[in-house]
Amino acid sequence: MTRTAGAGRFAPSPSADLHIGNLRTAVLAWLFARSTGRRFLLRVEDLDDRSSSDTATRQLADLTAIGLAWDEPPEFQHQHVHRYESVVDELSSRGLTYECYCSRKDILQAPRAPHAPEGAYPRTCRDLTDTARDQRRAGGRPPALRLRSDTHEYSVIDLLHGEYTGVVDDFVLRRGDGVAAYNLAVVVDDAAQGIDQVVRGDDLLSSSPRQAYLGTLLGYPTPVYAHVPLVLNTAGKRLAKRDGAVSLSDIGRATAMAEIAASLGFTATNPGGMLDEFDPARLPRLPWIYEPVRQ
Ligand code: GLU
Repeated sequence: MTRTAGAGRFAPSPSADLHIGNLRTAVLAWLFARSTGRRFLLRVEDLDDRSSSDTATRQLADLTAIGLAWDEPPEFQHQHVHRYESVVDELSSRGLTYECYCSRKDILQAPRAPHAPEGAYPRTCRDLTDTARDQRRAGGRPPALRLRSDTHEYSVIDLLHGEYTGVVDDFVLRRGDGVAAYNLAVVVDDAAQGIDQVVRGDDLLSSSPRQAYLGTLLGYPTPVYAHVPLVLNTAGKRLAKRDGAVSLSDIGRATAMAEIAASLGFTATNPGGMLDEFDPARLPRLPWIYEPVRQ
């Protein structure tokens, strides 16, 4: 076992109870951390869902019920809003941010520069004249704050996907409502918690170049990434509550763990036993298609 001083983590958003796919990702995050001698930490990403502390409590209880334990008390993002503010202030003082007045519709309708990557912010507000900025300020819409990026793409190394190069645009750091954007908060928190291994669903693979690039601007070490396959329903869409019995309370702990173990090719159905069998090279690379019992 390689010993490192770092940590891995699981970082759920408390928007709904964890479903079997989220639980499988949590198990994998724990296995990746433990098999490399890392600590395992938990972070509740509740900047959007502050009111759902009941959901967060159930999420933590479900993780405990399936046998996962973490090494420090869980962190809640809403408790360190100052962290995000001070990083945004630092970036602003270095000239690395600008105000953006665009609505979603403005962005969709903006002409795209030739070769601009799909989904990249078209930099509409990046170089506004003082007069144009004053006019937009007078419109009353509180601006978002964007990163003034000096690149269009960045590469990360992922344990399952190899070298992955993706878009880095002038992404939002602080939303118009004043709340830190996910891409900022995740980078700042991972660094603050000493996290050097990020295991999560592969729907976030395309966000990792933005996050790693921001981390380098802030002088943070880049974590090791492992983006693991998602769980899909039989229609090939992300699993959701409407698909039927998907949460631990619906399925029951023993069945859920047996299903997760089978989907990963383990004979053991508890985290400790899975750790003995864990070999990242043998993990399935395709989504797990899960057919919930209809309720
Ligand atoms: N909070 C995010 C989610 O539940 C995960 C963020 C991350 O792991 O970086 O989808």
